[in-house]
This record gives sequence, C-alpha cells and structure tokens, in this order.
Amino acid sequence: MSKIQKVRGFQDIYGENAKKYRYIVDTFRETFEKYNFKEIILPFVEDISLFKRSVGEATDIVQKEMYVFLDKGGREVALRPEGTASCVRAYIEEKMYAEGGYHKLFYEGAMFRYERPQAGRYRQFHQIGAEIFGVSSVLADTELISMVYKILKRLKIDFKLEINSLGDFQSRKTYTQELIKYLKQYENGLCETCKSRINTNPLRVLDCKVESCKQITKDAPKIIDYLSEESEKRFTQLKEYLKALNIDFVENPRLVRGLDYYTDTVFEFTTDQIGAQGTVAAGGRYDNLVEQLGGPPTPALGFAAGIERLILLVKDLPSEKPLITVIPLTPDYNIQALSFSESLRNSGIKTETLLKEGSLKSMMKTADKLKSDYVVFISDKYELKEMKSGNQEIFYTPEDTLEAVKDKI
Ligand code: ATP
Ligand code: MG
Repeated sequence: MSKIQKVRGFQDIYGENAKKYRYIVDTFRETFEKYNFKEIILPFVEDISLFKRSVGEATDIVQKEMYVFLDKGGREVALRPEGTASCVRAYIEEKMYAEGGYHKLFYEGAMFRYERPQAGRYRQFHQIGAEIFGVSSVLADTELISMVYKILKRLKIDFKLEINSLGDFQSRKTYTQELIKYLKQYENGLCETCKSRINTNPLRVLDCKVESCKQITKDAPKIIDYLSEESEKRFTQLKEYLKALNIDFVENPRLVRGLDYYTDTVFEFTTDQIGAQGTVAAGGRYDNLVEQLGGPPTPALGFAAGIERLILLVKDLPSEKPLITVIPLTPDYNIQALSFSESLRNSGIKTETLLKEGSLKSMMKTADKLKSDYVVFISDKYELKEMKSGNQEIFYTPEDTLEAVKDKI
C-alpha cells in the first residue's frame, strides 16, 4: 500500500527541533510578560476581505500566497497568512479602544502562505509577534525594537538590525510618484514581476532579489529624502534613542517591507547564516490601519518573528533536567513502581516508569535508550543506580530512596 506523506510545504517539527521551538517561544513569552504584553489567541480562519484591506490587494501575500476557500456556508475565508490584521480586527471588534489607555498584545501560532517551499520557507510556518495599539510616541518604537533585540540576544543569535522610515501617508505618496518616474526610465531592465509592480506596488521593486532589479534600484531616489518634517523628526529621534540604549542598527534606505500597511518606522532583524531567507523578525508602524479597517484613528505598531528560521539559528538549548527511570523487576512490582514514580514526580523530578516489560537486560537497554541518568529497580527493596558510573545503593523504604534521589540531582 502506498505511504501517505505530508503535504508539500508542510512539516513535522519533532525531537530536537520541537525542543528548540518550545525554547524560542518560552523565551519570547517570558520577555513579553516582563514588558506587560497580554496574550491574544486569534482564529486561524478570517474573512478574506480582512487581508485584502490590510495587507493590500497588490501584495504578494494577497495576490498569490493565500489559502482561500469557500466554507460550507458559502463564505469566502482565508487561512491567516499573518497575525497583525487579525489583531487589528480583534482590537476593533472587541472594542478594546473603549477601555482607554493603550494596549500591548502578543500572539503565537501557525500562519499559512502558498509559497514555493525551500529551506526556511514553508506553507505552514509559525510566528510569534506583538502589537502596541494607541501610542504614537517614539518611546513605543524604541521599546518594541529593543525588546526584540534583547530576545534575539538571549537566544544567542547572530543578527543585524536594519531600520528605515517610510514616512507618513503624504511623504510616501510624493516619494512613490518620484520612484515610479525613475523606474519607468529603466523599465526594460526590470524583471517581469517588477515591470508590473511599477503600477501596482512600486515600493516592492526595491525589495526584489533579482540582480538586474537590484542594480537599477541602487541609484533610485531614497525615501529618506522625501520624509515630511514630522516623519524626519521621528526617525531622528528613534535613532538617538536606540543609540542611547546601545542597540546596534544600520540604516537601510531600501528596506520597505512587502505589506501595504506600514508607515514611518520599519525594521528587520536579519542574518547571513541561513542562506537566502535571512529575515528572522520584522515589523513597523501602521498608524492608519486601525482606522482603515473601521476603528477609531489609532496609532499602532508591531513585529513578528519566524520561528522556523530561529530554529535553524539556535545552537544550544538550556541543559535538561536529569531523568530517573523506575523499573519494576517483575510485573509483581508494577503497582509499586507506578506509585514510587508518582512520588518522584510530585517532588518535581522528571520520571519515566519503564513501560516496556522484559528481561532485566532488555529493560536496562531501554533505560539507556531513554537517556536515563539514574534507574531505580523496584523489588522487595529499592536499588538506585547511576547509569554513567554504574554505582549502586540499596534502600528499604520509598521515603529513603526519594531522599537519596533528591540529594543526587
Ligand atoms: P520574506 O521576505 O522572507 O518573504 P516576509 O516579508 O514575507 O518575509 P513577514 O510577512 O514580515 O515576512 O513575516 C515575518 C517573518 O515570518 C519573516 O521575517 C520570516 O521569518 C517569517 N516567514 C514569513 N514567511 C515565511 C514562510 N513562508 N516560511 C517560514 N517563515 C516565514
Ligand atoms: Mg514573503
């Protein structure tokens, strides 16, 4: 019979990678907690128009990467390709703005994009991200960027922080017209996709990876020269704040991000250690999006990190707790073994009750395969054995054995 395989672009995350996944997520969550971000658990499925109206009709995500289907009620829905749009929808729909103050949310989970699968690029991938609603101060941009910076440092990842400003709506409009003029002059040298992007999503041409496009855009007008006074002031202040906090960054005038909703601050954390898919976390401000989706005018900003790419970069996991394996010498001692295991676990000790019955030799082999640090043989006595040294001690009550195990680990 033919084997069933996973669907192209999807993957199983298990073993060491699952440990890394959990370690990465825990590290982010612990830090979010310290910064007083609150979790939001978002639906996987959204009305397709949410992404059309936020991410943008002309973006790669909406044009070609979305998993779209009709549900049984005939609704046109999409598997979420990213988290920000859903956060904004929830912020508006749940009327969080009515509570006053401002809101700091974080989310985590699977995203879906129908892209060409390759290393670091999958059709189901996982993001962890955070959003701040209701603050226009550069304090928020600084806090968000420095928070991500610190998390990636904690994960011991080698990265570069790139920042840019896309300006406010007006500066971006003026700039876009200048850019279109420039690109039209060199239209013939651009790749086919970029030729059509001139009219649909000209900023995205700056982000194209095709060599001839890169050459052409090298001398293109820079958005930084078109910033309004207000946007320029904001960008200068952000850079001052980051410097004062010893956050290393480089300015990248070509950094535009692929999505429509960004304004002013944009940033990417990149690495050259995992090949072409080098962006591990990215984000920026989106001061118009809440209003655009029907909410009150609300300045906002956020970021998302790609967990699969971080898994490729994390080298060392924190050391694991030692494992004690409890082995009933014969099935007569099964109950005793189960209950002794329970008392170990109640003391916070990682405990395996050896579930595979057999000869002493085969059970020891299994304990070894499980990477046990100690085993306890249960019979009319308790034999505690260290796997590495082979040293053994004998006890006659579970209490004494438990105390001895606690002393050792
Ligand atoms: P890229 O330029 O690599 O396509 P993007 O601009 O589409 O990235 P965002 O939408 O900003 O990415 O998502 C934030 C992060 O999510 C990315 O920096 C990356 O780490 C991760 N990511 C995005 N798409 C994928 C994917 N298909 N597979 C794995 N991770 C992804
Ligand atoms: Mg992409």
